Amino acid sequence: KNKELFKISEAVSSTLNIIGSSLKENFIDIELELDESIEMNSYKNQLEQVLINILNNAKDAIVLNKIKEPCIKIKVYNDKKNIIEISNNGGAIKEDIINKIFEPYFSTKFSSKGTGLGLYMSKTIIEKNMGGNLRVNSKEESTTFVISFES
Ligand code: ADP
Ligand code: MG
Repeated sequence: KNKELFKISEAVSSTLNIIGSSLKENFIDIELELDESIEMNSYKNQLEQVLINILNNAKDAIVLNKIKEPCIKIKVYNDKKNIIEISNNGGAIKEDIINKIFEPYFSTKFSSKGTGLGLYMSKTIIEKNMGGNLRVNSKEESTTFVISFES
């Protein structure tokens, strides 16, 4: 697929149109803080695929850990780079596995549910195809995935 000029906030919105109902079913509060002026010329569909992977993982963590007031926050802003942050309060990722989550086939989920490829493919898309960066920050009750692109 070809590159196209798009607003990052629109990629977020169409992703939420796709999986929003499964988040609502789990009573997950969605908090959005989107700078709608931020555009990029890249692979919109691939970015949406990454956002779906990350949001599905956030939902899984929330459901698995039976979080009382589940919340996912998505923030799009520019701070020298264009940044997309996706946080959830589904608990921290344990230190002994946090270095493995981007490896292919690494999953802590039952094999029927987790392929362990979501984050591996997400990192490949963001870093190899789109020239950006995908990292994770996890502490105490929350986990945040941070996608950044030179602007
Ligand atoms: P899968 O979802 O198929 O298990 P992924 O590559 O998407 O594979 O994720 C790998 C692993 O990273 C998950 O099995 C889980 O242990 C961990 N993980 C990913 N996202 C989160 C999150 N938001 N909170 C807690 N753990 C996470
Ligand atoms: Mg996954």
